[in-house]
Amino acid sequence: MNITDLTVYELKEKLDKKELTVKQITQAYIDRIIEKEPDVNAFVTPLTDTALEQADKIQEKIDNGEISATYSGIPIGIKDNICTKGVKTTCSSKMLENFVAPYNATVTEKINAEGMIDLGKLNMDEFAMGASTEYSAFKKTRNPWNLNKVPGGSSGGSAAAVAAGLVPWALGSDTGGSIRQPASFCGVVGLKPTYGLVSRYGLVAFASSLDQIGPITKDVRDSAMLLNVIAGHDEKDTTSIQTEKKDYTKALKNDVKGLKIGVPKEYFGEGINSEVKAALEKAIDEYKAMGATVEECSIPIADYALATYYIIACAEASSNLGRFDGIRYGYRTPNYESLKDIFVNSRTEGFGAEVKRRIILGTYVLSSGYYDAYYKKAQQVRTLVKKEFDKAFEKYDVLITPTSPTVAFDIGVRSNNPLEMYLADICTVSVNIAGLPGISIPCGVDSQGMPIGMQIIGKHFDEETILNAAYTYEQRVKFRDKYQPEFKNK
Ligand code: GLN
Repeated sequence: MNITDLTVYELKEKLDKKELTVKQITQAYIDRIIEKEPDVNAFVTPLTDTALEQADKIQEKIDNGEISATYSGIPIGIKDNICTKGVKTTCSSKMLENFVAPYNATVTEKINAEGMIDLGKLNMDEFAMGASTEYSAFKKTRNPWNLNKVPGGSSGGSAAAVAAGLVPWALGSDTGGSIRQPASFCGVVGLKPTYGLVSRYGLVAFASSLDQIGPITKDVRDSAMLLNVIAGHDEKDTTSIQTEKKDYTKALKNDVKGLKIGVPKEYFGEGINSEVKAALEKAIDEYKAMGATVEECSIPIADYALATYYIIACAEASSNLGRFDGIRYGYRTPNYESLKDIFVNSRTEGFGAEVKRRIILGTYVLSSGYYDAYYKKAQQVRTLVKKEFDKAFEKYDVLITPTSPTVAFDIGVRSNNPLEMYLADICTVSVNIAGLPGISIPCGVDSQGMPIGMQIIGKHFDEETILNAAYTYEQRVKFRDKYQPEFKNK
């Protein structure tokens, strides 16, 4: 048995039966990181030095019966835009290279309360802006399925780490696809919860009306388990919703008979790679065979979602990133003679090109002469996007689309072409615009052996239905039994 191949569900079973100790699990992950991290580059700040100490303490508490939490002793990795007290939270930016968070994000508190072991902070596109993790100021993460390919982004470190077995599960954040798209590129499961289900307190803000934290896991059951840990109202986040506590694992029925699935035709158009389309069509046939009803439908506004997203996301980013001025927050330039120099040079030297591009675009669409034409218009389209999804959900329980129009692309081919990079999120952004939950699960590989992702979109706060739909399919096709990453340069 290879410990790092096990899901968290399996790890927990073995811990409960005392077939494994916390130390054995932690050591196995540390060994795996030593072996594979040089290939993958998933971590910005590994915490392997402190992990064993933590493991000992937790084991002792378990042995003394002092711990009743469910996931005590289970390791985890955390995207580097989620604050962890006393540990660097860099957002993979020079701007925050030395920022040690003085407090924990609410999700970090919840992870700690469970007694999970933090194996480290995971790489990402700078300030979560990007779709390949190439915009990290520090390193390029590689896709474990083919080391010449990107892992997707912006949570590329989290997805690659899970796929490579460097962590059993991880947290990511998703503003326009940053959990689902890297999950799809790396052949793992990524869930973006409904906006408001998981607290954003302590998540470094990119676009506050779109950002959500969510789980990246090996399989769907683990996804439901980690959602159980992080979901719930938080008075520190005014957009967090008061909902009843649920056990999402109870939704996993392994049965989709009678499930009404809509397949919006706009997501199967010209820009979608033919192998991706074929894999999706096959997956949809599986659903039919399992007793779901499937119907083609239409979300015509989807064609405008990407433009709308980039206006809203950039507008909010330009405002959120105003605080990084070398005085209130972030890197301060050594080159200044005046106060203005501090502002200008700190931002010039601290931010990378993509972040600057977003700030400039965002400031432009918010400026008085253009506000109505761009920002206000985008907000109006946002309302239409919501309405079209609401209408579709009057008829269907879930919608199925590809997660991304292509599989993972080669490192370097899109990083100098922002528009090409933006297209990687064409299937995911509307879900954030409408605030809906969406999950990506693997549904096959292409002729080069690269994973293909299927996105299942649900109604607001109906994570249960998409989790069950994903789980039922997963049980039928058993992707993980058939395909595993090879860690090769191909
Ligand atoms: N790739 C998209 C962007 O660059 C989405 C990023 C995200 O979800 N954080 O904005």
